[in-house]
Amino acid sequence: MQLWLSRVTKRLGGNLVWLSLTGALLVLGLMAVGVTLGVNRGPAGDQQVGFTDLMQIADTGGALAVHVDHERVSVKKASGDSIVAIVADDGARHDLVNRFARGNVPVDFVSREPSGASRFFAAGAPIFGIALFGVAALVIQRRRGKGHFSVGSETVTAPVRFVDVAGMDEVKEALQETVDFLRNPDHFARLGGRAPRGVLLTGEPGTGKTLLARAVSTEAGVPFLSCSGSSFQEMYVGVGAARVRSLFKEARRLAPCIVFIDEIDAVGRARGKGGGDSASNDHHQTINQLLVEMDGFDPSTGIVVMASTNRLDVLDAALVRPGRFDRQVVVPLPDLRGRTEILKVHARPIDLHHEVDLAHVARQTPGFSGAELANLLNEAAILAARDNALTVETDHLERARDRVLMGPERNGVLLDPDERYATAVHEAGHVAVGIAAEHTDPLHKVSILPRGRSLGVTASLPERDRLMYKKEYLEDQICMMMGGRAAEMEILGTMTAGASDDIERATHIARKMVAELGMSDIGPICLKGDAELPHSQKLLDTVEETTRSILHAQLGRARGIVSARRAEIDTLVEGLLDRDTLNRTEILACFPNDKKKLAAPSSPSLPS
Ligand code: ADP
Ligand code: ZN
Repeated sequence: MQLWLSRVTKRLGGNLVWLSLTGALLVLGLMAVGVTLGVNRGPAGDQQVGFTDLMQIADTGGALAVHVDHERVSVKKASGDSIVAIVADDGARHDLVNRFARGNVPVDFVSREPSGASRFFAAGAPIFGIALFGVAALVIQRRRGKGHFSVGSETVTAPVRFVDVAGMDEVKEALQETVDFLRNPDHFARLGGRAPRGVLLTGEPGTGKTLLARAVSTEAGVPFLSCSGSSFQEMYVGVGAARVRSLFKEARRLAPCIVFIDEIDAVGRARGKGGGDSASNDHHQTINQLLVEMDGFDPSTGIVVMASTNRLDVLDAALVRPGRFDRQVVVPLPDLRGRTEILKVHARPIDLHHEVDLAHVARQTPGFSGAELANLLNEAAILAARDNALTVETDHLERARDRVLMGPERNGVLLDPDERYATAVHEAGHVAVGIAAEHTDPLHKVSILPRGRSLGVTASLPERDRLMYKKEYLEDQICMMMGGRAAEMEILGTMTAGASDDIERATHIARKMVAELGMSDIGPICLKGDAELPHSQKLLDTVEETTRSILHAQLGRARGIVSARRAEIDTLVEGLLDRDTLNRTEILACFPNDKKKLAAPSSPSLPS
């Protein structure tokens, strides 16, 4: 019990430090702006003492990781503590960073444009400039007195190597070439290797794409410049493009290095035809600038652009042409073995009860991403702490899995009786279809406690990893999603907005069946969002019509299932109103006539 308490207090303590740290960072950030604007990159003389210290650390080793945020250089030392320095001089900073990188210290580089405010100041609002100069001078005075470094716990992300990325052997193998290239671009070229320029990591959110990109930079010993695709989105024409330009300017100075663009689909979305408004103009220019930059650098410079997306289908075709993002690496959801390994990695700092079997947890979590598994262990630790348990037990893990699967309950949201009843009916509709349709995954739980954005949830869990999706399975998925709306229509005689998410997901599947998987009457044809391949309006109309008819047919089917099970649904609704959440056994008890699902072994369900 003690053990847990101390861990919890440590956790909370950590948070406090983090909070106050954020405050400190804010001040530091302001100082940095002050130095840039006020003193305007005066001679590095100001930094002399600290700067040589830093150089020394860079040369002698002893640093674990370096984080560069604008002019702020934070170094995490092997001893555990960190030092922070403001190195305002660009040249000096880059020299320093390169030294660390050459010494195989992972360097994490946040590329950030000056804030709107500082841009405004920089643009030359004289009065503000003078006022700021005054403040800056004051600030600098004070800092002189105290020296240029603040020592304390710093949030330098721990270096990630390939061994820290669990599973994914093929993916790491595919990225090894990029590592080899970055280690020695010239050598690579002399051996006749075709230098990688852009690597696109595609996969669902939370599968570890960012983690992998970081690992590549650590393995290669080069700086990591990261930014998010959405940071290029601006209302004003030219701003996005200017950001891309300054990002690559930085990259050229730091090369060899990695430029990582997270969620590139935000900026790399296919350019529309018309538009003409300023947002789409900016979008156009931003993509163009990205293309210009990627085409512009000589491969031997040693810049590799890595980008992540889970929407490969919406990317502008020009981005994936040869010489740009010509390496594509699919980062899959982890399989059983991968999940076990990810759980092991994240269980390292946690005290697990000796009976806990992580392989068993992995078997119970098909379809979970690495991030969700990490989250599961974290939630389990929180639940154990709340129970004052000494170790994390199987029960905590199972409850944590439910929280990750269904979303954490939203406390304090009370539905009025009408809303509760309507929610129960809606969920019961999903359940009825889930029971009646042949190809659905086993139902796990149903609940009418509000979670996140939703008022209720019906969760099913596949019995094993699904590698192949058959047409019947997809149709049953759509039917089950329509079950909620079907019950509203059949039982409530109305429609609620609660079905909007269901409809969106169902439409997505139906459209995919028609336009990508060849699973409809119009036959095998692919109409992925490729602007290069014009399709006739007639064909597009047919696709839409066919998609609509699939959705319509499944809604009809769901309504039939629901109306044939009125009595069972009533029982289920009563149970939900009574107890909020029902587990698999309780659900099945409401449907005594649906023998098929009753017979199914309930391997992934929980004893609860
Ligand atoms: P993505 O960029 O694909 O959305 P991230 O790289 O941000 O995903 O992963 C989120 C978190 O999930 C990581 O910080 C890590 O804690 C965990 N994670 C995901 N995949 C793995 C993995 N293969 N091994 C270890 N941890 C993982
Ligand atoms: Zn629903």
